[in-house]
Formats: sequence, C-alpha cells, structure tokens
Amino acid sequence: MADQPNLAPQIEAFLRNALGVKRMEDRQIRLALTLLRQVLTQVERAIGSANVLTVNRDQIISQLIPQVAASIQQTWGVQVLEQLQTDLLPFYERQLDFARKMVELAGGDLTNAGAAAANSLQVAQTVNETIVGGKPLAQVLTQQLPVQIADRVESYLRLGLSDVGGETLRTYQDAVIRASERGVEAVIRTGVHEVGSAAQQAIYQYETDPDWGEGMLVWTAVLDSRVCPVCVALDGKEFPNTYKKVSPHYQCRCYLLPAKWRNDTITEPDGTTNPVKRPTEGDKGEGALSFKESAKEWVKANPETAKEIFGNKIGQDLADGKIGFDKALKLWQAPKRAT
Ligand SMILES: [Zn+2]
Repeated sequence: MADQPNLAPQIEAFLRNALGVKRMEDRQIRLALTLLRQVLTQVERAIGSANVLTVNRDQIISQLIPQVAASIQQTWGVQVLEQLQTDLLPFYERQLDFARKMVELAGGDLTNAGAAAANSLQVAQTVNETIVGGKPLAQVLTQQLPVQIADRVESYLRLGLSDVGGETLRTYQDAVIRASERGVEAVIRTGVHEVGSAAQQAIYQYETDPDWGEGMLVWTAVLDSRVCPVCVALDGKEFPNTYKKVSPHYQCRCYLLPAKWRNDTITEPDGTTNPVKRPTEGDKGEGALSFKESAKEWVKANPETAKEIFGNKIGQDLADGKIGFDKALKLWQAPKRAT
C-alpha cells in the first residue's frame, strides 16, 4: 500500500482487516490440520494393529469404520470446534470494532453503541450456527467431516485407494490424510470468514446510524481474479439488515455492507468529497473502484482477469463484448460435457 499514498483511509482499513481475517483463517487451518494429521496417524496405527489386511477383512472393516468416525469426532472435530469457539471471541470483537470504524469512516454516527457486544456464549453460538456448505459449522466439524474422513479410510482399506474429484490417490498419506486436508481447509476458511461477517452484520443491524434509512445490506464480492462468477453476479443485490449471509460456495469471501455505504461519498481530510471505494485487483494490479461502478462492468473492463475468472474462451468473449455477463455466467455454470 506504500505506493498508493492517496488510498482512502476507508480502503486502507478495509485491506488491513481483510489481512487480519486471512491470518486468523490460516492460523485456525494450521491448528486443525496439525491435529488432523496426528489423529489420522493414530488411526493408521490402529488399523495396522487390527490386522485388517489379513483375516476376516470385510467383517473387521465394517466394525472398524464407525469406531474410526467416532474417534475422529472426539479427538478432532470436537476439539477443533472448541478451539474456534475460544479463539474467535477476540476475533469477533475485532470485527465489531472494524465495522464500527467502517460506519464512522462512511460518515455515519453510531447509535445504540455496545448493542452488538460479544460474549463467549454468544460467539460460541455464532461459531456453531455459522452455515458452511449448507450446514451449521458445529455439525460439519463434529458429524459430517468425521464421517467423510472415515469413509475415506474405508475406501482406502477396501480398494487401496480413494478418489477425489477424479484423481485417484493410493497411499494412506494421500488417499486419507491429504484428501481430507483439502476439505478441512475449505471448511475452516469459510467458517472463520462467516463468523467475522456475522460480527460486522451485527453492527450494521444494531448500531448503525438511523439516518441511514431502511437498513438494507448490499452483497459485496471481493473483486480480484479469484472471485467466483456467481458472487460477481450477486454483487450489488440488496438484503434486509436482518438477513443472515449464506455463502453460495466454500471459501466465499463476500461480505455485506450497508446500502447507504455503497451510495455515499466520503469527505477526505482535505475537504474534497469522493465516492466510497472498494479495493480491487485487476489487470493493472491493485486499485480502488467506486461502488457506483458495477462489478459486472469491472470484469468486462479487465480482460486478463475475466479470463482467470471464467476461463479463457468465455472470459475473452465477455471482454470482446461478444456475450454479456449473464450469458457468460450461464456458460460458466453449464455442466461440462464428458468427452
Ligand atoms: Zn462469494
């Protein structure tokens, strides 16, 4: 950011916070994966000592897999959930502060200050109920993932491999551990982001300036080459401030901002006014884009970025104006034909 001295304070605050969120995601992922590797290494040992590969194979496997699932649930899922509940309390508080700062930077007055204060019980509940991949995080960590991982152990024991997205993995290290790590990373990253997002929304719901009117929130995507086309399409869509964000996919980085925010102007320290801007990363590197510009137009104006988002063919056609954004989205979503 050093090369952009004119960066609005609001953008700077935003980028700094995004970095803090990412650091917390990375930390939680590291903790969850370290523990997962320990637990799965113990599982491997237990399998070895159960003589699975020699006598009464099917019977032993059938008895073993539910035990493996239960063990992963207790020694991993429950632990990771508790860790998140503890660690995300100060994180939640920082997200509350960040949202308050964003309101003030947008020229709003905070009313009802403290209405969205965090406590450990309520943050634990937010962690539990955060929706990740369509299910509450507590359920994903303590039920869905342990069962999925135990399924991989079973595939590995029965077939000597597991199949992830068409890729065949044959060693225990790959077929069970590495394959499970990917899913875990996606869940934790999404979960942490969504808890932060819930904290910000609590401010917009309870403490925002009543002069800001109806209290609508606007879906806001992160505009860079990793954004998903579905999220670009959602960008700008309005929701009531009581709406609970549900991500359309794992690792969604979208957030909700007050509608007033996106329509407003900021008075800079030197007295000039500027539209509120968002950070972007397009063909020309980092930049700041007015919220009044549409995300769909931004994609079209950045052909190289469009190609990364949509793939070469669709991205190029979109940038060339051969197809519109909605058509590009439809083509991108169409199931890929098996050849
Ligand atoms: Zn998204």
